[in-house]
Amino acid sequence: MTIAPIKADTMIRHIGQLVTLAQQPLPHANGPLQIIANAAIATHHGRITWIGSDDEAAQLFQYASTDAAQDITIIDAGGVVVTPGLVDSHTHLLFAGDRAEEFHLRRSGVTYAELLRQGRGILTTMHATRDTPTETLLELALARLATMRSYGTTTVEVKTGYGLDFASEERCLQIIHTLNTAHETPDHTSNAMRVVPTFLGAHSVPPEYKGRRGAYVDIIIEQMLPAFVGLARFCDVYCEREAFTMDETRRILTRAQELGYQLKIHADQLSPSGGTKLAAEMGAISADHLDYASDSDLDALREAGVVATLLPGCSYTLRTPYPSARRLLDRGLAVALATDFNPGTSYSENMQMMLELAMSAMGMTLEEALAAIMIQGARALALQDEIGSIEVGKRCELALWSIHDYHEIGYHFGVNLVQSVLIA
Ligand SMILES: [Zn+2]
Repeated sequence: MTIAPIKADTMIRHIGQLVTLAQQPLPHANGPLQIIANAAIATHHGRITWIGSDDEAAQLFQYASTDAAQDITIIDAGGVVVTPGLVDSHTHLLFAGDRAEEFHLRRSGVTYAELLRQGRGILTTMHATRDTPTETLLELALARLATMRSYGTTTVEVKTGYGLDFASEERCLQIIHTLNTAHETPDHTSNAMRVVPTFLGAHSVPPEYKGRRGAYVDIIIEQMLPAFVGLARFCDVYCEREAFTMDETRRILTRAQELGYQLKIHADQLSPSGGTKLAAEMGAISADHLDYASDSDLDALREAGVVATLLPGCSYTLRTPYPSARRLLDRGLAVALATDFNPGTSYSENMQMMLELAMSAMGMTLEEALAAIMIQGARALALQDEIGSIEVGKRCELALWSIHDYHEIGYHFGVNLVQSVLIA
């Protein structure tokens, strides 16, 4: 009998529990997360070519080693839990300055809406970002990406939205593009995180357009969107009472869609703004926040196949009630979790904490929360065919945890349970 050679340049062996999250049943795998005990993975040029038990891997390796053409690197996982790398599908990572003062003002009772009315909030960060040299912005972003990776994240969506004029937004998109290639581990191996660029020029109306907001919307539609094709994959709008109206959102996203952008909406976060319904109507990839979405809005999202992204870091920071993930899951929606990492309303890079908040305050089970920070996050970026689960043909982007049983996740909280990530 001849064995078909499996292409492999790297094998990861001695995986105690491989949490695959495979969408199709796998041989030897069990439960809703499709877990394989004592597992191994083979990869070739960064793609998974084989998944199975470590015993089988030993035979496979023996076979492969007889082939002089194959030179396989073996990585020993040491018996720990291995999962897909975490996917943070909603961040505002590129900014300068901080808003610690504002945070503590809110803690003393000032509302976020009041701060926005005072021209604080997003505009404080806009000024700091505009005034900071590109080199410094890049360094700040790289440090934040390194923190995210240390907590297991391998893919990060990064929005613009603190430039708010043509030149500043373009500069931010170019920095995001650089992040995609520049991020290296301390030992300078190529372990680049995947960075997905989103144009969020419609984050806030900049002060120079006070009283003539229509002119700013026109500039987004007529100048920024056409110029940024190819620099951003997604176009997002902050559809909210204090930001952009439903009509403005619809105009911007309609133009973006014509130009080939995929769509996201900050929807119904602080008030029922109509953003959720619009996301369904326009076939957005995700609708994010959803604190004030009605049952019929949610049903429309489900019917349109839009991913519902919940951002518990905002509820933590703003001390508003957590959106019920249970309510969404029971209505059959695909629910992702993300950090919404930003200096005003969610200053945390840590996806493990989002899982912990979702399990403690939003009604998610461990299985649902793990899916929400992996495969559902990938869906929220339209990358579910590439990442988010461990399956043959997908990219090999893994989180290696420092635990031997995945049930520790969410139970042992407030500490970093990830020891490293592997991006083959
Ligand atoms: Zn956001």
